[in-house]
Amino acid sequence: MSKQCFCEAEPCHAGKATIEAFAADFAKKMGYQAGGELEMVVEQMGGKIVYQTFADLSRSLDASIRVMGSGNFEIYLPDYTNAERDRFSIAHEIGHYILHYPLANAPMVARRFGSTRVEWEANWFAAGFLMPEAAFRKQFARHPKNIAGVARHFRVSTAAATARAKALGLL
Ligand SMILES: [Zn+2]
Repeated sequence: MSKQCFCEAEPCHAGKATIEAFAADFAKKMGYQAGGELEMVVEQMGGKIVYQTFADLSRSLDASIRVMGSGNFEIYLPDYTNAERDRFSIAHEIGHYILHYPLANAPMVARRFGSTRVEWEANWFAAGFLMPEAAFRKQFARHPKNIAGVARHFRVSTAAATARAKALGLL
């Protein structure tokens, strides 16, 4: 990695509901449908996903995303987790790019353990992107008492679907 300076992601300070609705809209705009491929979304945006071994991660690179410029970014994922967790992570990193890069307007990095507010915002984005509220409520009603079924529909972990259901007051 070059010695180029990257500024740290700063919070955008939009509220949870605003960010979620914005993420759901963005997903629609990108032609993303529930359970769809996120790699394609990243590619369409000009980004790249880089899988790293545990050794790479501990050596480096506490960055989770590095934005070199508009339509030019790399998302770093550990190569030893599972697909559902990766999907939430990818959506989370897309959130950093969409919410935080326009404010930085300069090469930007978000770290694995960045400021709490910045991380919340990216998580709200991921939840809204992967599990839009209206669709989530519908699936929840369709699979009563079967959060695993809801999680499968959106291809997220059961933990992520459970958190979403709680946040929407369904559990
Ligand atoms: Zn983050």
